[in-house]
Amino acid sequence: MDFIELLRQGLMKLNDNSDLGNRSTYVGSSDVAGCPRKAVLSKTEPPDHELATLIRFSRGHLAEQLILSAIKDTSYKWEYQKEVSHRERPFKAHIDFVFNGKSVLMVLEVKTVSAIPKTPYESWIQQIHFQMGLLQEKNPGKQIRGCVLAIDLNAGEIALFNGFEYNSMLYEGLLQKASHIWQCVLDTKVKSQTQTSPLCAWCQHRPECPAYDNSMVIPELPIEDELTQYLGLKATKKNSETELAKLTNFLRFAIANANPDGMAIKVGPNVVRTNERNWIVVE
Ligand code: SF4
Repeated sequence: MDFIELLRQGLMKLNDNSDLGNRSTYVGSSDVAGCPRKAVLSKTEPPDHELATLIRFSRGHLAEQLILSAIKDTSYKWEYQKEVSHRERPFKAHIDFVFNGKSVLMVLEVKTVSAIPKTPYESWIQQIHFQMGLLQEKNPGKQIRGCVLAIDLNAGEIALFNGFEYNSMLYEGLLQKASHIWQCVLDTKVKSQTQTSPLCAWCQHRPECPAYDNSMVIPELPIEDELTQYLGLKATKKNSETELAKLTNFLRFAIANANPDGMAIKVGPNVVRTNERNWIVVE
């Protein structure tokens, strides 16, 4: 028995999840959240995923199971993998969770990450706005809100990005993107737009992608996990640097205001001063 192949076949079945139907027959919310070219090719030339890719996909299912276990006995009214379709076009969303309040419907999208980002990724925001738009069309009398729950399964860390609301302008833009994707699926002569992002590193359609110069021969290494961690840490570092710059300016301003002659203040047991290079020093 080739156990690895058995595992790969099993995970392929799990990821082909029949609840989502045949994804080549509609444009889904994850399609509009990313690169149009990738979305089109995933429907017209579905890739054969490697085991590592299938395991990464499966992390999403695991995270959803955690949420299901946590909320199954609560008194909230909720639905899992709620399907919502556009009234005319083949556009659909399978929303991870919808919580049903008296006058509000709350969308919850679950994302697994290697490091919790400071702010939600643009693709998450686009995905949840498309979901909220479809839901609003079906429920004109209700207020539609949304949030994204990011889970780092390794570190056991979570972050809830809350406060999204249905926005007709954003939804309209995403409908146009969905129309472009569908037009390219129907007519392979129509050139699909590309949208580069860090996710290009894992895109199976990169070899021929016009967004990159693929004429160079580049050696390939199987170090996807390390690259994922690197990109996650880089995003966290960028956010940390922005926060650090803000706080540094805040402290400089506080010192200059409170003690312009001595250029030092006490914060609890610490003396905080600016040195001759205008750096913050904590003693
Ligand atoms: S490599 Fe990037 S830009 Fe090109 S198709 Fe893939 S996701 Fe799109």
